[in-house]
Amino acid sequence: MTNIEKIATKTLEVLKEKNIQPTPNEYHKEFCNVATEQNEKVDDCNLFKELVSKLTPQEQDELNANNIKTFEELIGLLLKRVHIQNVSTLASIIKQALSPSINIHLDEQLTNFSIKIGDSPELIFEEDIQKEMQKFLEKRFETDQNLLKEKTADIAKLVTLMGKHLKDAINSNQNSSSNVTNIKDELTSFDLDDSNIAELVALQNKLISAASNIETEMNEVNKKLSNGENHVKDLESKVQILESELEKAKKEAVIDHLTGLLTRRAYDTEIKIIDKNFERENIQYAIVFFDLDHFKSINDTYGHEGGDTVLKTFSKILKSQTRENDILARYGGEEFVATVEYKLRREILQYLKRIKAIVNENSFNFKNQKIKVTFSAGVVLRNDHKSYDDALQKADILLYQAKNDGRNRIVLEDGTVI
Ligand code: GH3
Ligand code: MG
Ligand code: MG
Repeated sequence: MTNIEKIATKTLEVLKEKNIQPTPNEYHKEFCNVATEQNEKVDDCNLFKELVSKLTPQEQDELNANNIKTFEELIGLLLKRVHIQNVSTLASIIKQALSPSINIHLDEQLTNFSIKIGDSPELIFEEDIQKEMQKFLEKRFETDQNLLKEKTADIAKLVTLMGKHLKDAINSNQNSSSNVTNIKDELTSFDLDDSNIAELVALQNKLISAASNIETEMNEVNKKLSNGENHVKDLESKVQILESELEKAKKEAVIDHLTGLLTRRAYDTEIKIIDKNFERENIQYAIVFFDLDHFKSINDTYGHEGGDTVLKTFSKILKSQTRENDILARYGGEEFVATVEYKLRREILQYLKRIKAIVNENSFNFKNQKIKVTFSAGVVLRNDHKSYDDALQKADILLYQAKNDGRNRIVLEDGTVI
């Protein structure tokens, strides 16, 4: 008989002696006792000891107090331990679930509640406690929402501030769009992913897209500004052209473009000064009206260009003979007027004779053609008239007289003809 068979036989005898039914449990318990008495090491019985050694001191005390000897009883005890552990874990998960997620500050009520279910996790199965948990959970949602609102308000302030920066940037200079690009880059790189707050991430995306829109608009504005700048430059150069044209027009109003002599308008201004000098200081002057003879036929023969050349040449002759202080003007198409200051009457005669001689003794050149030109003139002395206007009118009459008398002559009021 093997040792095990001997132990088994002995076990059955002991059970019979003790009048105990040989149920599997009772048998196993007694079997291990017998094996221990006979110093026989049985794996099953050691396994029991090994499991017992792994219990906490408290559980071992419990084991002894309840006189637990069988596997069944031990497993019952261990299952209870697992149950307690699970309940503790569940209780700590609930504690966490009740705490606000961002603001980790717990109020007194929640702290006390946490301590309570920490000490007695089994309480989580009680109805009153569960109601209290529900209350704390609702409170937690509310706290989290309020905090999020608070943070969102902060972000709104940030957005307003950013808006101001953008406005400043737009107003400041052309680099604005690069400033906006920087802001956009900063927003993009601003890491909110860890915060688990979907709203914040959405807000970040909105800001990024707002910055993108602003960037596009600013580029558009910059484009418009530079177009505007070009437009302003165009206008500036147009204004410059207009200014120089105006300057030219002003000059042309004073200087006749063909002959370089004063215009009739400029003459009207200048004569007032001369006449004032006459009235105040008795500075004598004569008025001479010149008119080219048969000028129309010169135009007809040599063309308008030929006529122009004659007008220019005649003007040069007049200019060469007239002094700086005197006025010389083109009064109309082929009509000229001169004022001549004098002290002695013969100075006027000499002046008129010189001009007539030059015109009569020379031919005008036009494209290698020689043109013979004559002129007629009417002359008055201002001193012989009450007013300048009277004198002027008389000079005109004398000119017509010269024409009527056959042209190529200068008629003075006293009847002198040159
Ligand atoms: P008269 O001897 O009676 O003065 O005759 P006229 O032909 O000189 O005078 P009329 O008034 O009949 O003609 C003047 C002409 O002068 C008419 C006009 O075409 C011409 N004329 C006016 N201004 C200019 C000009 O700037 N250039 C040229 N080439 N001709 C001009
Ligand atoms: Mg005329
Ligand atoms: Mg004429």
